[in-house]
Amino acid sequence: MHKTRYNALRLRLEIRPKGPLLIKAGGISANPALPDMQFVRTYHPNLGETVYIPGSSLKGVVRGFVEKALRTWDDRTSWRWACSTFEEKDKPPAEGNCPQRIKHMENVENRSLSTAEIYANSCGACRIFGHTRLRGRLSLTDFFPVEEVRTEIRYGVAISRLTHAVAHGPFEMEVAVSGAFQGTLVLENYEIWQLGLLTTALEAMNLGMLKVGFGKNRGFGEVEARIVEAQVDEIIAGYQKERLRGLLAFVEDGKARSYGLYPPATLDAVPAPKAEVPLGLYMRRMYEAEAWSVMAGQAMQALVPTGG
Ligand SMILES: [Zn+2]
Repeated sequence: MHKTRYNALRLRLEIRPKGPLLIKAGGISANPALPDMQFVRTYHPNLGETVYIPGSSLKGVVRGFVEKALRTWDDRTSWRWACSTFEEKDKPPAEGNCPQRIKHMENVENRSLSTAEIYANSCGACRIFGHTRLRGRLSLTDFFPVEEVRTEIRYGVAISRLTHAVAHGPFEMEVAVSGAFQGTLVLENYEIWQLGLLTTALEAMNLGMLKVGFGKNRGFGEVEARIVEAQVDEIIAGYQKERLRGLLAFVEDGKARSYGLYPPATLDAVPAPKAEVPLGLYMRRMYEAEAWSVMAGQAMQALVPTGG
């Protein structure tokens, strides 16, 4: 199934700091002319040296949120749970994280599990973000400034928990305070509930429940996450303009069972796209932010357990 691309979502996202935002460059700067904690920078062909938000740091934040959300359900008979990410050496392998459990199953059965079996036996978080035995479905590009990002220096101290005295500092922190970054989120071969979870994470970012970067307990990291444009590619066979198909809609029953796919298979009566572009095997639909937010709402509704 991984060899075929059935569906793909590309979200063009814009991120604006609502207050101080600090994505830390590695380590503390040894150069006394530079702040102790610098905003991470890279070289961009058009922008030159610039601050940016690495896709990997956003992905980490989103994964953390999705895991927390899944743990509130913790229903191991479905996708509604998250393993512990880290290897748990003190637990029996049958109760470890996804790669540990899969290795254990392979040892017990003395054979390698198929991709379908690995997917079926992975938790909701790993099905989206992957683990050492399963390729993730989600990727995020780096986010670069699309309008000038202004940075300021803030001062901080670290307080010793033992003596309540200043343990370190004052140190300088370079924070972004205004401007906008853009980048792209791509989700391939997704199930509808995965769309719902990701949408929930973006919503949480906007509500200030999901903060990004360093200094969350100092009130840093609140951002606005805005969808600029959404693009959905689906295999053209069986295409309908007002229907969005998850993985379950593309595969026959046996395959769906072996991969342990969950309903709903589709989102129906979705808003009209602003453009449809046939691309050979695929149909591409482009949505404006407003239409996408209606669909995002429908995807979140699909997360509500039906009690069945
Ligand atoms: Zn897992």
